[in-house]
Amino acid sequence: MDQLWRDYKTYLHLRYGQRVYRIGLDGGFSCPNRTASRGGGCIYCDAKGSSAVYQRRDESRYNRSSAFVENIDQLGKPEPSLSLEDRKRSLTAQIRHGSDFLDTRYPDSAKSIYFQAFTSTYDEPEVLKQLYDHALQTGEYRELIVSTRPDCLEDPIVGLLASYRQRVDAVWVELGLQSGNDATLRWIGRGHTVSDYLDACERLHAAGIEISTHVILGFPLEGDAEILNTAKVIAQSHPEAIKIHNLHVVAGTRLYERYLAENLAVSDMGEHARQTILLLRHIPADIVIQRFLSDTPSHRLAAPRDFGDKNTFVTALRNEMVRLGATQGDAL
Ligand code: SF4
Repeated sequence: MDQLWRDYKTYLHLRYGQRVYRIGLDGGFSCPNRTASRGGGCIYCDAKGSSAVYQRRDESRYNRSSAFVENIDQLGKPEPSLSLEDRKRSLTAQIRHGSDFLDTRYPDSAKSIYFQAFTSTYDEPEVLKQLYDHALQTGEYRELIVSTRPDCLEDPIVGLLASYRQRVDAVWVELGLQSGNDATLRWIGRGHTVSDYLDACERLHAAGIEISTHVILGFPLEGDAEILNTAKVIAQSHPEAIKIHNLHVVAGTRLYERYLAENLAVSDMGEHARQTILLLRHIPADIVIQRFLSDTPSHRLAAPRDFGDKNTFVTALRNEMVRLGATQGDAL
């Protein structure tokens, strides 16, 4: 391999011959795992639902104490219900805002539609179709990318997603696995198992849908053996891409309460680089690495607070892999 890992930017350029950027969208979805009967969501669930930073127009309302109050208030309650027409209107506005941002910052690049926030397949297939159609009819897009959970991909939804392969170059599902260990998934309160994830991957791949698997490194109850197990699950399911996150403790989450009460340790940059290299060496070399770090606005991030920025991390990672003579997949 001429690269230490399969880099996303290079991959996109080779595939499309141009730069491609995503317009991250909030389609007004909730998440089945955030209901009170499921315990209020994943332990780290952030009420902002992972929306793109440039779409968080109300971000200034949040800080490390107000986010706590607002987030705890929302856990276990249904999301405010918007009508379908309101959701479409909101999508139009978000796409306009996202397009303007990308056109200014990256002129002459192509765009993809990315339903990013919460669980973007958590609705009736007819409603999903209207929302996806509405977003795609606003312009020319390379990819439709939909972020979801393994337990929200019933066959009619997989069929609907596959139908968009006629319309865009690729349909992707961003699929939360987070850990390849069921004990960790229970600790997180994920509400699904590793085998649910494997089943979803099999059905998505059979339908020609590409997968980006999300994993988190740095859970307090995970050591190297658990990370190697996650790598095995990734190798077995063989997604086209992965996104690696470092565990972030965000104000207002249940993880934040446990972090304070139990003095939980959170990986610093050196430890996250070490765990990232361990994972990379044990996954197939053809899997594209789309991300290495979580992205939380610093005023809401409780820990880690002294982690460097993305470029510093990637440089440190690269230097350490060169020092070790390590490359993605070399330990398989
Ligand atoms: S799947 Fe995502 S949106 Fe749902 S509870 Fe977990 S973190 Fe929150």
